[in-house]
Amino acid sequence: MLTEENRDTTETTLQGIAASPGIAHGQVFLHLQSELELPAHDIEPARRGEEAARFDRALLATRQQVQRIMAEVEKNLGPDEARIFDAHLLVLEDQALVGETLRELKTSGHNIERCFHRVAQRYIAAFDSIDDEYLRERAGDIRDVAQRVLQNLLGQASQSLGDLARGRVVVAGDITPSEAAGLDRSEALAIVTDTGSKTSHAVIVARSMRVPAVVGTRDLTRRIRNGDWVLVDGYMGAVILHPTEQTLYRYGQIRLAKKNLEQRLLEAGRLPAVTLDDAPITLRANIEQSGETALVREFHGDGVGLFRTEFLFLSSPRVPTEEEQYDAYRAAAEALAPAPVVIRTLDLGGDKPMAGGAHLFAREANPFLGHRAIRFCLDQPAIFKNQLRAILRASTVGNVRLMYPMISGREELARANAVLAECRAELTARGVAFDPAMPVGSMIEIPSAALTADLLAQDCAFFSIGTNDLIQYLLAIDRVNDRIAHLYEPTHPAVLRTLRHIVGAAHGRNIKVSVCGEMAGDPVYAALLLGLGVDELSMTPPLLPAVKYAVRAMRLADARALAEDALKLGSASETQALCDEFYRTRVKAE
Ligand code: PEP
Ligand code: MG
Repeated sequence: MLTEENRDTTETTLQGIAASPGIAHGQVFLHLQSELELPAHDIEPARRGEEAARFDRALLATRQQVQRIMAEVEKNLGPDEARIFDAHLLVLEDQALVGETLRELKTSGHNIERCFHRVAQRYIAAFDSIDDEYLRERAGDIRDVAQRVLQNLLGQASQSLGDLARGRVVVAGDITPSEAAGLDRSEALAIVTDTGSKTSHAVIVARSMRVPAVVGTRDLTRRIRNGDWVLVDGYMGAVILHPTEQTLYRYGQIRLAKKNLEQRLLEAGRLPAVTLDDAPITLRANIEQSGETALVREFHGDGVGLFRTEFLFLSSPRVPTEEEQYDAYRAAAEALAPAPVVIRTLDLGGDKPMAGGAHLFAREANPFLGHRAIRFCLDQPAIFKNQLRAILRASTVGNVRLMYPMISGREELARANAVLAECRAELTARGVAFDPAMPVGSMIEIPSAALTADLLAQDCAFFSIGTNDLIQYLLAIDRVNDRIAHLYEPTHPAVLRTLRHIVGAAHGRNIKVSVCGEMAGDPVYAALLLGLGVDELSMTPPLLPAVKYAVRAMRLADARALAEDALKLGSASETQALCDEFYRTRVKAE
């Protein structure tokens, strides 16, 4: 048993996952969620109507609370962050969840708290067991809302984490989105959670509040106490317990350097992306929701190079209608016009099945080699055509381009284009407007597509190289398997030769090539990619300033020389060293 006297207060560093950048030093507010105590009794048949009415009132009260939180978040953080709570309202409206609870009341005769808790737990378990990070997060939404409904049934007010966390580093097992929303700018110094991932909603809120966050610290909540001093390094994902004066001094220096760097990057962000020898470079953004166009503008992206549309599907309990999709695509195109928005058709399946589409996706032994993306779409023409019509209709606004994911060869591309032609004909017959000249391109992310890029280029208006998948397929490295993550080498000679081949094939047909995988957002690789002849880079919006800074600090002629040298090398590590050296000596702003 730990007592105050024998507690170890020597400096200890715990490694988690960096989730929101920044450095904070402060005392801990330990936030441990307590389980609600649920009453257990039976309800006579004659009183079950009143029990159901009590449930209705609790749902209504919860709905009003969530709407109040949404309004507050929208005021403090903006509409995109507020939209996180749409998922909570959907849970409250879920007829299956509500209906099952009422059925449980009728058949078991137990009080409504127990019935609702049981049904909600079944839902949470079902979502928790799905092998997809994004869908597992939905279990968190249900847990959060269910807790509120139960509190309302029990007449308990929920406490605001914001009040408790003022000026403190919040350390918790997990933080629900509504709790995170209670932490506004001035209150928490940092957020640290034992569980969670970079895509958890609490982290999204932390990032938008610009509060440093580290997740995945496993057992930190068991190792510290309220009031302990900690240092949170949201850049490296480290949490230092009981930091020494020396560590604090070192971090003070790092904080100053980072602040300086961020300032310089933000300044560069406002300037054009032009190399020192006057070559303009196109830098675009990757988005998952139309609301993220605000970020594209904030970070001065030249439109969107990759709109991953499957996220509209993943966050919905059913297949979104043509109209819903049209609204999202049009909103993005309108927001960024005249800059282009490249909309990628669905990349569902494999590791990204749909919550509301379990019947559409079978469990597969090798999901990344499975029924995914364009393969799924060509087998589900109704779903595919809905999306294609929505994109075509949105093309009358702004500058919309369409691209297909996971194309493996020319025949598959022709099949996809045939479906697109059918959609054009249908819209024409209905008298619905679309841009007949909307450019249609293909992602190049399968080795067979790379090797036949000269053939594909004949039927494409542009290429976009998905290095995430291309590297995984070229090197046979599962991109989500952390045991082999160290073997995932963007600078492998096979990758370089393949990129050069794709660029050559595209330029031979006068079409442009973009890279939209994570490699494009790493400033260390900017010179290599541009030197290999890539025309455009597309990345998650906050990475734009660092890549732009790199572009503005290099000469394109030097980047070409770097790529030439790299192509002569025989190993990934040599090319990596060359890129690091180029970056360190010519670019690095620190
Ligand atoms: C890629 O594969 O590089 C890519 C951009 O697509 P995704 O990451 O969505 O598979
Ligand atoms: Mg891909």
